[in-house]
Amino acid sequence: MARRKLLMGNWKMYKTVAQARAFAEELGRQTSRLSPAVDYAVCPPFTALHALRVILPSCVKLGAQNVHFAEEGAYTGEIAPGMLTELGVQYVLVGHSERRNVFHEPDAWMRQKVAAVAAHGMTPVLCVGEDLAEREAGRTLAVVEAQTVSGIADVRAEQASQMVIAYEPVWAIGTGRTPTPADAQEVIAYIRQVVAREKGEAAAAGVRILYGGSVKPDNIAGFTSQPDIDGALVGGASLDPSSFVAMAEAV
Ligand code: PEP
Repeated sequence: MARRKLLMGNWKMYKTVAQARAFAEELGRQTSRLSPAVDYAVCPPFTALHALRVILPSCVKLGAQNVHFAEEGAYTGEIAPGMLTELGVQYVLVGHSERRNVFHEPDAWMRQKVAAVAAHGMTPVLCVGEDLAEREAGRTLAVVEAQTVSGIADVRAEQASQMVIAYEPVWAIGTGRTPTPADAQEVIAYIRQVVAREKGEAAAAGVRILYGGSVKPDNIAGFTSQPDIDGALVGGASLDPSSFVAMAEAV
């Protein structure tokens, strides 16, 4: 079965509840421009999840930007998977480079988060990608391979086939710089081969692999028209409803 394209917005630490509501209301006025053949999601700050659940157009699903892998516990400031399912969250970002690099989340947590999200019936979105020094040292494929192998280690093959991986070169996030679509295709095809080796061909055929890093309305189609690129994870350009809709039309 063909993989459905996915356009996902990562709002990072932007938008109050009032601003999130305004986004949803504006998107609601433009839903006729959202194709039913594509999946859509936005990942707001945790504080806006409840409000958005109520007013987001039903074709736009909710994502969370992070999660803890424990069911509950003395983890001040953390959010458990069950707290997200209760709010109607469908996708959860795991291992965004800002979590890895700014908050120093260890690699070992990613596999536990991916497994916990999948066990709760949500879709993990495992983020992988090399930094500039790694790219310049010719280590891109080795880095994404190691992050992918480790991130999917604790999920079963059928869970892997349902998940999402986002290839986000760290040097492209928020910088306006991107790899060429052909470069991104090459890395993403490699990630798919790694999934095939680790979890089997069916998992590799099912897993959706997105490109992320300075995606905008005028460059998204170049990426999403590549054979192995199943959509985009977008930060800055997903904050404005008109830009979100323009990317939805181009995806
Ligand atoms: C991101 O935050 O995942 C991202 C890709 O950001 P931007 O689109 O702003 O580069």
